[in-house]
Amino acid sequence: MPSIQTKKRFSGNNYILVIFDSCRYDSFVAAKPKTIKKLGKVEARWSYASWTSPSHYNFMIGLMPHSSPKNVYASEYYKKDFLKFNERLGVDNIEFKSLVPKLYLPSFLKENLGYQTNAMVSLPVLNPRTVLNSGFDSYKLMDKHNDMRAMVKGLQFNQEKPSFYLMNVGETHYPYALPDEPPDQWPRISGVHGVFKHLDDEVVGGKLLVKKKSKDEKFFDNNRLEELRQRQIKAVKYLDRVVEELFDTVPKNTFITITADHGELFGEDGYFGHGPVQHEKVFQVPFVEGKIR
Ligand SMILES: [Zn+2]
Repeated sequence: MPSIQTKKRFSGNNYILVIFDSCRYDSFVAAKPKTIKKLGKVEARWSYASWTSPSHYNFMIGLMPHSSPKNVYASEYYKKDFLKFNERLGVDNIEFKSLVPKLYLPSFLKENLGYQTNAMVSLPVLNPRTVLNSGFDSYKLMDKHNDMRAMVKGLQFNQEKPSFYLMNVGETHYPYALPDEPPDQWPRISGVHGVFKHLDDEVVGGKLLVKKKSKDEKFFDNNRLEELRQRQIKAVKYLDRVVEELFDTVPKNTFITITADHGELFGEDGYFGHGPVQHEKVFQVPFVEGKIR
C-alpha cells in the first residue's frame, strides 16, 4: 500500500491510539506479533477498568494502563505518566494540569493543540451518541465490529494540522472472529452475547457474561474455552498484519500506542469474559508504543 506522504505544515506528531478490545496480555504475547513489536518493548500493564466503557473513558482523560508502582502517590504517578504525552505528541510543554478543567484528551488536543480529532470504534457500547463523543471532529461506529483493516483504509491525514485517531478494534473481542469468517460459524456460548447490532442489547445485558450453572449443566467446557483463547491469539496474529498496513499508511511523523481496554477470562477461577469480574487476567493488558520510523 502506498504511503500517504504529507508535506506537513505543523510541528508535532499525528497520534494514533489503538485499543485491541478485550485483548489480554498473555494472548498478545502468545501471538508473537512481529510487526507490532517494532514500536517498542511490549509491557504488561494494568487497566484502570474491567469493562469497555469505563476503560475508554479512562483513556480519554489521558489515563493509559498503569504499571502499578509501589510507594508512590497516585497523583504523582499519573502526573508523571502524563508527561509521556509530550513524546507522543512531539511537544514539550504539556503536563497533567494542562487538561484542567475539562480533563478530556480529545477536547484538549482539538482546542489547545489544534488537532483534527477522530474516533473509529467497533463496539456499539461506544457509539457516537455516548458521552465519550466529546471533542471529536469525527466519530464513527464501524459497520462491522471486527474489521480494523476498514479503519486503516479510512485514515485521512491533514497537511495543515496534526491528527488524532482513537481506534477501538474488535477482532480480539468475543467471539474473536476475523472479518472473513461467516457469522454462522462463530462460536456460541450459551448465555453469552458478545456483539450486538442494537444498542439496547448491549446495554440491557450483553456484557453480563456469567451465567449461573444449573444442576444439570456444566458451565465450563475447558476444551471450548481453550478453543476461544486460541481464537483470541489468532486474532492478534491477524491484527499484526493489519498493523503492518497501518505502518505503511501513516505519515512519518506519527506516534502509535497499541494496548487493550481490559483482558478476558477463559475459565480461570470460574470466570469467562470481562466486566463484573475481579481477577488479575481481566486487568492485565499489553502496552507498546513508539514511532515506527
Ligand atoms: Zn472492551
